[in-house]
Amino acid sequence: MKLPKFKNEPFTDFTKKKNVKEFEKALKKVRERFSLEFPLVIGGEKFSSDKKLVSFNPSRRDQALGTFQKATAEMAINAIDLANNTFSEWKKVPVKTRVKYFLDAAKKMRKRKHDFSAMMVYEVGKNWAEADGDTAEAIDFMEFYAREMLRYAEGQPVVKIPGEKNRLEYIPLGVGVVIPPWNFPLAILVGMTTASLITGNTVVLKPSSDSPAIAQMFVELMEEVGLPKGVLTFLTGDGSTIGDLIVTHPLTRFVAFTGSMEVGLRINELAAKKQPSQIWIKRVIAEMGGKDSIIVDSEVPDIIEAARGVVQAAFGFQGQKCSACSRVIVDEKIYDQFCELLVSETKKINVEDASLNPRMGPVINEKSFKSITDYIKKGIDEGGKLIYGGEDMDKTGYYIQPTIISGVDRDATISQEEIFGPVLAVIKSKNFDDAMEIANNTIYGLTGAVYTKNKKKLERAESEFFVGNLYLNRKCTGALVGVHPFGGFNMSGTDSKAGGRDYLGLFQQAKSISAKVK
Ligand code: NAP
Repeated sequence: MKLPKFKNEPFTDFTKKKNVKEFEKALKKVRERFSLEFPLVIGGEKFSSDKKLVSFNPSRRDQALGTFQKATAEMAINAIDLANNTFSEWKKVPVKTRVKYFLDAAKKMRKRKHDFSAMMVYEVGKNWAEADGDTAEAIDFMEFYAREMLRYAEGQPVVKIPGEKNRLEYIPLGVGVVIPPWNFPLAILVGMTTASLITGNTVVLKPSSDSPAIAQMFVELMEEVGLPKGVLTFLTGDGSTIGDLIVTHPLTRFVAFTGSMEVGLRINELAAKKQPSQIWIKRVIAEMGGKDSIIVDSEVPDIIEAARGVVQAAFGFQGQKCSACSRVIVDEKIYDQFCELLVSETKKINVEDASLNPRMGPVINEKSFKSITDYIKKGIDEGGKLIYGGEDMDKTGYYIQPTIISGVDRDATISQEEIFGPVLAVIKSKNFDDAMEIANNTIYGLTGAVYTKNKKKLERAESEFFVGNLYLNRKCTGALVGVHPFGGFNMSGTDSKAGGRDYLGLFQQAKSISAKVK
């Protein structure tokens, strides 16, 4: 099987009328799904439960987007047992056949990409371009991992010795529990699920309770391309109720998680404990939170461009990206000018219903709204100065103005904790040494960026800025599959580098086979 070289899926140009019309059509089309109820899929069969989960539109908080099931404890345990039964068959399916399911799915998703994006506009409040980027990334993950799987399936290099024929091959692990977040509800879900399945594992997929509708569309897509029954289990329900059960089940072989540090650490701890009858050490791939900084040095190449980059990275998708810039560290020589530029750039941002395609939509839910507004208060109480935003907005959805707080102390709460919303802390640095020290002073290490034209300072950032994804003279969001393999250090996770060449290795184990020859 020879595939053309991997290329990133292009983004849709919404300045073209034709694309706008097509997207509006898709927004209308997905609304037909809002009144439907969707089942759990366990062992290839469909089930309903007494308890229901309703997905709501954060732009219009009373608008339901579909009804889903809350799996019971018994269903969750059964899901792992049945996925384990199916594993014995699925692992024997030839690599090329497995790969083909995902190439077919990528093709179909590309054809209907606006349908997927439109659902994300409604379900998580992405504007059109952000939703389009999410769908493009999902397609990229399927295409990229298809090629990677073919590469892993080829003979792996080993040293030759006389009298023996040696080889090393990769085999799957077993049942994988896949737990994605709501913020890249398609891309991350598709990425982790594809990596797990394409390598020959079976999957119990538990989507976020904030984004079951987009997860359902992917599950339907995999049914459409004929993925054998029982290979992909769809288990909606409360993470806090069924999460522990599927993580601790003795037949669970690995967990692929992306979400908050708190939940990731809990999963890591629970998975580490051997259960009665368990015969392996569970693997945990955990990508967690961030507190990402951009350093703006006194030798910034173009101060306006830097301000634009910071504003985009801080407020794109309402700051709800793990890679979002939540702290900008500005040299005291340009501090006042930079703060003024930040405000003038941020003033251009409109906040409204995501289906109208504003620059910013709502934040995900009430809990998040409260937590973000509490952080804004805390930022001011601890001595920060509100220089933009922070006011109450229309209550039909969970809207928060893009908010900038300047004069933030390097150790203040909003300088240290992940807020996951449109709040930017501005911290003053004395010089580049000081800026580097501030940049590395959190428990996280996901993304970071530096704006300076000084080559020595850039080199220092390369070696000292302790983040998994470092960007020089550009913003810290917008990682592309294959181009910027993504994952963080320290409490940001296990640095699994999604969209990179090492990633599929995490979902497999290597077997060395040695035969004596005469
Ligand atoms: P979250 O609250 O940790 O939830 C993530 C997933 O975990 C959801 O599916 C959730 O299900 C599930 N869950 C909750 N409790 C569980 C438990 N006890 N056992 C097993 N699963 C459980 O995170 P989120 O709010 O969805 O996402 C935002 C976070 O993700 C941020 O911290 C962000 O930085 C991080 N993130 C990191 C990356 C990265 O690559 N490093 C990428 C994207 C996002 P329910 O919804 O049912 O509770």
